[in-house]
Amino acid sequence: MNIKEALAFAAEILKKGNIQAPVREAGALLAYVLKKDLSYIYAHPEENLPGSIEGEFLKAVEKRGSRMPFQYITNHQEFMSLDFYVDESCLVPRPETEILVEAALNVVKKYEKPIRVLDIGTGSGAIAVSIAYYDRNTVVDAIDISESALNTAMKNAKRHKVLDRISFINRDFMHFAAKEPYRVIISNPPYIPRDEIKNLMPEVADYEPVIALDGGTDGLDFYRAIASGLKNLLTPDGTVLTEVGAGQHAMVRGLFEKEGMSVLVLKDLAGIDRVVVGSLSETFFL
Ligand code: SAM
Ligand code: GLN
Repeated sequence: MNIKEALAFAAEILKKGNIQAPVREAGALLAYVLKKDLSYIYAHPEENLPGSIEGEFLKAVEKRGSRMPFQYITNHQEFMSLDFYVDESCLVPRPETEILVEAALNVVKKYEKPIRVLDIGTGSGAIAVSIAYYDRNTVVDAIDISESALNTAMKNAKRHKVLDRISFINRDFMHFAAKEPYRVIISNPPYIPRDEIKNLMPEVADYEPVIALDGGTDGLDFYRAIASGLKNLLTPDGTVLTEVGAGQHAMVRGLFEKEGMSVLVLKDLAGIDRVVVGSLSETFFL
C-alpha cells in the first residue's frame, strides 16, 4: 500500500465510525505512525509503506474507528504548552482546564514562598505538573484515588523535571485529612451527574475512566466535600479554585458562600462559566 491508498482506506474506516473529520484524522494518524509531519505525507503520495508501518497504521485506524480518543492512541496531549503522556489510566486534559491553571498561576505568585498547593484528582498530573513547572516557588501535593493515574502523573512530573516538588498521594479525597493546611487548593474533580455519563460522546463514555467523570447523582459530590473540608484544608488567607461543568457554577458558588467564602466565577473561551474561585479572606489575587 502506498501513502495515498493508505489514507483513502483509513478515511473510509473513520467515516464508518462517524469520525467528524475522517480525512484529517487519517493524515494525522499516518503522520504519527510514520514519525513525519503532514506536509511530508501529502508530498509523497506514491511512497510505499513498509509492512510493519502499514500494520501499525491499520491498527491505529481501527482503534480510532471504534472511537478511542486520538490522544490514547498517540499517547500525547499538549496542555499549557507542555507535552503530557496520556493513556486510558487518566482523563485527557481539556483546553478549558488551562483557564483554571492560568488563574491558579496568577494566584500563587502573590503569596510568599514556599507555597503549598493541593491538586485534588490529579489524573495525568496536568494541573500539578503545570503549576510546579511554571512557578518554581510551589510545592504541590497531588492526590488521586487511582493508582494507575498517579503512575501516569509521576511519569509526567519526571518528564518535565518537577518530581522533586510534587508529592503523589494515593488516597480517597473523601477521607483525606491534611497534615497542614494549603495556601491554594485547585481541582478539576469528576463533575458529570452519574446518569448522564452514558449520553456523553463515545470517546468519553466508552474510554475515559468512569471514576474521572462520576460526580455523584447531581455531579456536585466533590464540591460539597471540598466546601465542607475547607476550614481544615485551607489557610485563612488561602484560595480555592475549581473547574465546574456547564450550568454548575451557581450551585458551587452557593456551597462555597455557605462556608463563608467570597466567590468569583471565570468564563472559559466558549463563554461558559467554568472556574469557581473562593477566598476566605475576601481578597482575590487575580
Ligand atoms: N486533574 C486532571 C485534569 O484536569 O485533566 C484529571 C481530572 S479528572 C476529571 C478527576 C480525577 O479525580 C481522576 O483522575 C480520578 O481518578 C480522580 N478521583 C475520582 N474520585 C476520587 C476520589 N474519591 N479521591 C481522589 N481522587 C479521585
Ligand atoms: N470535561 C469533561 C467532559 O466534559 C469532564 C471532566 C470532569 O468531570 N471534570 O467530558
